Amino acid sequence: MNFESLGLRPELLRALAAAGYTTPTPIQVKAIPDVLAGRDLMASAQTGTGKTAAFALPLLHLLKASGEKAAPKNVRVLVLVPTRELAAQVLASVQRYGDELRLSSAAIYGGVSERPQIAAAAKGLDVLIATPGRLLDLMQQHAVSLSAVRHLVLDEADRMLDMGFLPSIKRILGKLPRQRQTLMFSATFAPELRDLAASMLHQPAQVDVSPRNSTAVTVEHRVHLVDDARKRDALLHLLHAEPRQTLVFSRTKHGADKVVRFLDSYGLRSAALHGNKSQNARTRALDGFKAGTIQILVATDIASRGIDIKELPAVINFDLPNVPEDYVHRIGRTGRAGASGLAISLVGREDQSHLKGIERLLKQPLKREPLGEYCLPERIAPEAQKVRQPQRSQRPPREAGRQGHPAARPSQSPRGQGRPQQRSGPRQNSGRPGAR
Ligand code: AMP
Repeated sequence: MNFESLGLRPELLRALAAAGYTTPTPIQVKAIPDVLAGRDLMASAQTGTGKTAAFALPLLHLLKASGEKAAPKNVRVLVLVPTRELAAQVLASVQRYGDELRLSSAAIYGGVSERPQIAAAAKGLDVLIATPGRLLDLMQQHAVSLSAVRHLVLDEADRMLDMGFLPSIKRILGKLPRQRQTLMFSATFAPELRDLAASMLHQPAQVDVSPRNSTAVTVEHRVHLVDDARKRDALLHLLHAEPRQTLVFSRTKHGADKVVRFLDSYGLRSAALHGNKSQNARTRALDGFKAGTIQILVATDIASRGIDIKELPAVINFDLPNVPEDYVHRIGRTGRAGASGLAISLVGREDQSHLKGIERLLKQPLKREPLGEYCLPERIAPEAQKVRQPQRSQRPPREAGRQGHPAARPSQSPRGQGRPQQRSGPRQNSGRPGAR
């Protein structure tokens, strides 16, 4: 199967050749003919399967073929996405594939100035990619109208529901013409999502390219059962043992900041990405990571969807997500489009119940591997743990962890980074077990 046989326009075929795509992915093979035929679609696809192109290519084809133009403030294709990062990424893909088509496109999302977005909408947009909140804002200001939308895409629909966007989505749906094509993409389909799908899709073609709630087969999963009190040391050890670009997930924003400060105190440059950061800081961190100038990105689950980094070799779960589905999404950041990837999880006592939930969801046990001195002591009674923990934090803050840590000794650091000369804050917290 090749892209020519899917019946796409030559401009698109040239863009695909320029992007180095030779063969359509399974979701593209299945979805593109249905979308070209004008059918509604309900697609279950795991992350990194090429689903953006699966909807963007046929919709760009249809837009061009119709010969129409978007009227001022009007929109022809609306793509709803859960996060600003995904909006920016989908826009980049649409513009890459549509390079020769002379169609207008823009993204609308919060956290940045409205002005350029209002200006872009004023001219009319063939493709608008939007997060629900900012889109509703601009609709209320009459800066954009959805009355001429012909095609609607709900991307990462499960994530949108998780983020509480259902009421906003319903309000947006109320402003769309009934006569339209609707495509829904989601990695997982909970019953609530099926209800939404039933209300908005008309006899949809169903595409399911992967077993539900599965992760890419090219990802190797590794679980290290670690002592909570030594989690950060374990992370540092892993990052030093094999320096490579790594996305580290933390359950909380505060926890992500702490990990960054900790790594920084050992001379490992990293950046944090989470919802408390300004949009500019988020963009800078993500762009730096994509460009490879930032080697380690520490993120909350805001980064677990949508982010596409070429050949990201490893993801480390500093702690496990409470929602098992988020593990699937986090892991989807590596091993994308057939490349191999590594997913390491540091599982402390607190994480163990989450691990069980994840294994139940995946219907497979994840491989446990010992991690030397950082292992969770098997037979330590909870009382003994309690006694040990204060002892750790009673040690002098700065010297405590560093003296004994292999990474603190310049001779053992693969990156040649020695112990930083002055730092005060991070070590005061680092000995606390499970501090987030
Ligand atoms: P997505 O699942 O849409 O985020 O896409 C995952 C990655 O696969 C992106 O980097 C795309 O550029 C890439 N990709 C999508 N379709 C193909 C294809 N047919 N051949 C090679 N790479 C692709």
